[in-house]
Amino acid sequence: MSRLQNLKTRLAEINAINMANALMDWDHQCFMPHGAAEARAQHQGILSRLAHEMFTSDETQRLVQDSVSECANEDDSAMLRVVKREIDQATKIPAELVEKKMRLSALGHETWVRARQTNDFNLFAPVLEDMFGIAREEAGHLGYTDHVYDALTDLYEEGATKAGWDSMFSMIKLPLVELVRRIKESGEQPDDSIFYGQWEDTAQAGFTEMLAKDVGFDFDRGRQDTAAHPFCTNFSVNDVRLTTRFKPYLASAIFGTLHEAGHGMYEQGSPGEWDMSPLAGGVSLGIHESQSRTWENIVGRSRAFWQRYLPKLKAAFPSFPDVPLDQFYKAINKVEPSLIRVEADEVTYNLHIMVRYEVECALLTGAIAVKDLPDFWNSKYEEYLGITPPNDAEGCLQDVHWSAGSIGYFPTYSMGNILSYQLWEKLCKDLGDVDALMSAGNFTPILEWLQSKVYRHGKKYPPAELMTRVTGRALDARPYVDGITKKYEALYSLTAGV
Ligand code: ZN
Repeated sequence: MSRLQNLKTRLAEINAINMANALMDWDHQCFMPHGAAEARAQHQGILSRLAHEMFTSDETQRLVQDSVSECANEDDSAMLRVVKREIDQATKIPAELVEKKMRLSALGHETWVRARQTNDFNLFAPVLEDMFGIAREEAGHLGYTDHVYDALTDLYEEGATKAGWDSMFSMIKLPLVELVRRIKESGEQPDDSIFYGQWEDTAQAGFTEMLAKDVGFDFDRGRQDTAAHPFCTNFSVNDVRLTTRFKPYLASAIFGTLHEAGHGMYEQGSPGEWDMSPLAGGVSLGIHESQSRTWENIVGRSRAFWQRYLPKLKAAFPSFPDVPLDQFYKAINKVEPSLIRVEADEVTYNLHIMVRYEVECALLTGAIAVKDLPDFWNSKYEEYLGITPPNDAEGCLQDVHWSAGSIGYFPTYSMGNILSYQLWEKLCKDLGDVDALMSAGNFTPILEWLQSKVYRHGKKYPPAELMTRVTGRALDARPYVDGITKKYEALYSLTAGV
C-alpha cells in the first residue's frame, strides 16, 4: 500500500472516532436521559483524547510528510494542505493548556448558566478573566504578526485577520446604523402577533420537514429532531441531522429549520467519495453561515417563497389568521432593535456582532478590563442600536461563546450574512428570474447552482479562494449593503437613498 493510502486509512479511522463522538453529542442534545450526563462526558472525553492523540502522533505526521511526493492530483494536494493546517494548529498549543481550557470551559459553562440566571456579572467575571488569559496564551503559541486577534480568529475562519474584520465592519456599520434609524423614524411597524398561538408539535414538525424537503434537504440521508438549542451536525455525507424547536411563536421553527437545512444541504453536497476524508464538509464557519442564511433569509424571507407557501401554512395550521401575503411578508421581516442577538432580525443582527467583536478586541489587548465590560457593552448597544440593556443577563451575559473560550468566532456570523448576498447576486445573474423559480417551488436550479459552485468543493479551496472562483472576488460587502437597503426601503416605504 502506498504511504498516501496509509495516510487516508489512518485519517478515516480518526474520522470514525470523531463521528462516534459527534453522534454521542447529538444524542446528548436530543434524547439522552439526564442521569447519563456524567458517563457521557467521560466517554466523549476519552474519544476526544484518542482522536487527538492519533491525529497529532508522530506516525500521522510522518505519513503526511512521506505522502507529499505521492500526490498525483489536485484533490490529494488539497487534502494534505487541510491536514497539515489542522495538525499544525493541534500541535502548537501545549497539551496542558488544552486541558486547562477544557476544564475551565466545563466549569465556566456552569458558572455562566448560573450567572445569567441570577443576573450576576461578578460571578462570571473570574471565568472571563481566565478565559481571555488562556486565549492570549493560545495566541502566543499559535503565533501572529500584527494583532493577537489574528491568531485566534484564524482557527474559525482560515485567513481571517483583525485588519480584515475591521475593513468588513467598516463597510457595513454606517449603512446599517442609518437604515435602522430610518426604519425607526418611519414609525411603521408590522404586526407579527399572527405567529403566536398554540401550534401542535406534530403540525410544526410536518410543515417544517415539508419545507426542508422541498428546498432540497435529502431525508434519505438525514433527519430532523428537536433540541433546546437548534443545530445541525453530521456523521457522514450521507447522514446529516437537523434539529429545530417548537414554540408558541411559529416563525421560530420555520426559520430555524430553513437555517439548519441550509447548513445540512451544504454538508450533504460534498462528493460521496470524500466521505471520511478531511475534504468533506463545509470549508469555514463564514461560508457555512452564508448557506444557512441564504435559505433562511434570502429564500425563506422572500415574498416569492411565501407566494407558494402561505396557503400551505394556512392549511397546516387552520387557526392561523387569514392574512394577505403582503402583510405576512412584512411580519416575517420586522426590524426592531432588540437586546438578544439570537432573536435579532436580518438588519440589526450584524450590529449585535459588532459589539461582541469590539469587546473581544478590547479585552484581549487590555484596552478595557473585565470589570468594565458591562458598561462598555451597554454604551455600545446605545451607540449602535439605540437601546440600553436593563440588566447584564440581557446584556453581556447572554452568549455561551466566551464561557467555552470561543474567542474570535463572532465575526464569522456577519461574514456569513455578507457572503450570502455576494453569492446570491452571482446566482441571480446566472439563473435569471429567481423569484419565478421560488414562487413555483422550483428550488432545483438554485440548489444545483450552489451545489456546483460551493457544496461539491467541500474544504478543497480556502474560503477566500472559493469566493474568488465563484464571484470573481473575495469578501465584498457591497451586494449585502445594496440588497438589504433595497429590500427594507421597499418594506418600510422609505424614500430610496436618503
Ligand atoms: Zn448557523
